[in-house]
Amino acid sequence: MPNVNRANREIERLAPGLQTIARELIAKARTEGLCVGLFEGWRSPERQNHLCDIKASRVRADNPKAYHVRGRAVDIVFLDYFGGWSWSNHWNWQRVGEIGEELGLTWGGRWTRFPDLAHFQLEEDI
Ligand SMILES: [Zn+2]
Repeated sequence: MPNVNRANREIERLAPGLQTIARELIAKARTEGLCVGLFEGWRSPERQNHLCDIKASRVRADNPKAYHVRGRAVDIVFLDYFGGWSWSNHWNWQRVGEIGEELGLTWGGRWTRFPDLAHFQLEEDI
């Protein structure tokens, strides 16, 4: 039984096309002084549905928009000076988003209804 409370951070669980891009995104951001890391990648269907149940996600595992379940999405989050994950507004999320877009990803920060600054996904035709 998967642990629905734990975010999976293994690059190897991502779709092959996204593994390289995710590494490049993190490396490029860091060269610009943006200290980010892979907060979450692949999600089990059980975790995806659990996140829905607690209102942390709006898509259930069987929804085509559940990119994490297919290993086609990553949440890239800043690390603070103590090495802890940080969603603070003072970080330059915009620039990280642009780097992801330059690498061919869709950035959740562009979504008008429910912006998701940490979220990037690789569309199916790539
Ligand atoms: Zn996400």
